[in-house]
Amino acid sequence: MDELKLIIDLHRDGPRQGPGSDSMTCKALEATGVHRDRDLRVLDIGCGTGASTLCLAEALQAKIVAVDLFPEFLESLVINSQQRHLGNDIQPLVASMDHLPFGDESFDIVWSEGAVYNIGFEYGLKLWRRLLREGGVIVVSEITWLTDERPQRIQEHWEAEYPGVATADEKINQMESLGYDIIDRFTISETAWIEAYYKPLLSRLDAFCARHNHAPEVLQIAQVERAEASLYDVYKEWFGYCFYVGRKRTM
Ligand code: SAH
Repeated sequence: MDELKLIIDLHRDGPRQGPGSDSMTCKALEATGVHRDRDLRVLDIGCGTGASTLCLAEALQAKIVAVDLFPEFLESLVINSQQRHLGNDIQPLVASMDHLPFGDESFDIVWSEGAVYNIGFEYGLKLWRRLLREGGVIVVSEITWLTDERPQRIQEHWEAEYPGVATADEKINQMESLGYDIIDRFTISETAWIEAYYKPLLSRLDAFCARHNHAPEVLQIAQVERAEASLYDVYKEWFGYCFYVGRKRTM
């Protein structure tokens, strides 16, 4: 199995594929001021196994298109949505977030948790703007520096992993320049990293290594995940995930 398949295998059984929690998703939804409405058109980009999609479907009772690059994640989403009797409201779609097959102004809400880094925050927000109707809302969560300065070790780590990492003020400036008005921003809680993401992930690692016969590349993936979790533990004062909630400005 190649590395990508192994990573998918590790993450497909997880409730989330990145830091975040249902309560943070609900908080962001509340910040939008949008209320339950069957006619809302919602797009969840990079939805993974769909934790946020399910929260939105439950809260809004609307039709949601859930997009991810990997069909394995969407298969889990379909199973989860059927178990929660939300299957009829969710339309899974395998597509890349930089080639979304929708016309202009197709959605009232564009949502994306922990995923835009795959194409970069600025590029993603620029591309996705046309998908929103005027006055539609966008909600994106993204890795963010929490202070203006930080230890060299963590600075170097994130700059190597994701050169787009920046402070919340810088992200907001980017959004405003791209034609969004900012409604709200907040940093996700430590619980959303640890209880909702790292704990379930770390608890799956032994079984993951065992089912792939402890092959060196499998142990290596497990090691990288453990190192990432301890990096958060040591440096959480300096970096976090922020939600950015904006509205498409009328030009
Ligand atoms: N939103 C989910 C998953 C976050 S992890 C959650 O919060 O749990 C990032 C997700 O982006 C993964 O599911 C990954 O498969 C997806 N992804 C990566 N590259 C992508 C691309 N080019 N287009 C669409 N989805 C992509």
